[in-house]
Amino acid sequence: MLSQELVTENYNKGFINKIETFGSVDGPGVRFVIFFQGCNMRCKYCHNPETWAKSCGETTIWSAKKLFDMAWKYHNYWGTNLDKGGITASGGEPLIQIDFLIELFSIAKSYGVHTAIDTSGQPFSRDKAYLEKFDKLMSLTDLFIVDIKAFDTNLHKKLTGVGNENILDMIKYLSDNGKHMWIRRVLVPNLTDGEEDLKVTSSFIKSLKTVDKVEILPYHTLGVFKWKKLNIPYSLEGYNSPTEEEIIRAENLLEIKN
Ligand code: SF4
Repeated sequence: MLSQELVTENYNKGFINKIETFGSVDGPGVRFVIFFQGCNMRCKYCHNPETWAKSCGETTIWSAKKLFDMAWKYHNYWGTNLDKGGITASGGEPLIQIDFLIELFSIAKSYGVHTAIDTSGQPFSRDKAYLEKFDKLMSLTDLFIVDIKAFDTNLHKKLTGVGNENILDMIKYLSDNGKHMWIRRVLVPNLTDGEEDLKVTSSFIKSLKTVDKVEILPYHTLGVFKWKKLNIPYSLEGYNSPTEEEIIRAENLLEIKN
């Protein structure tokens, strides 16, 4: 059963899984983080599998204005010039709900709020109709936080269920259009830490013009209980979190100098 914060027929409806009012890792400063419902990828290490379906028991439906008004209550924590903290759309995959996102960020920008999107990039395409919307969204977004989960598309497919050609294309497109990015890599020893894959990822990142930060996210198992609760088999049993040395090795291969 979905609870409806506001249902107005002419509004885009946002399907939201949860909200974090004081996020500190999904963009600069203090963030109001909105976890969008729905994702087409199936990352083996996903710690939010409850966001995969278009809706679940925890989903709430919002209008963009109502959701912004909720976020705005916290704006005093975002910094005096509204340039430190702000709003981050995460998920799940926010780009699946691009119409709602455009409406939400249009309101946010009219208030001068810093906006960020944490995206897997999976919905991106150069399809004319999609690209028009994406261009509009880009103009309303200050920062894109994107993963390169693996550079090799076969490895990416094994890891997430989909290839990554359009994801790398989106990253290139963001760079070509001057959009600032943070790039992340979830490090799973013996799965996403191959020397060659990290080196080609590094070369790709070096070819981009607008990357402000590159980060390693160490694999962890804190979300495994959710897979069990949802009765989804977890295939990374036996894989460990990386050690400090393994993280440093990967940072060196990625040539991280943040
Ligand atoms: S893209 Fe994100 S939400 Fe989707 S399966 Fe992967 S980790 Fe989970």
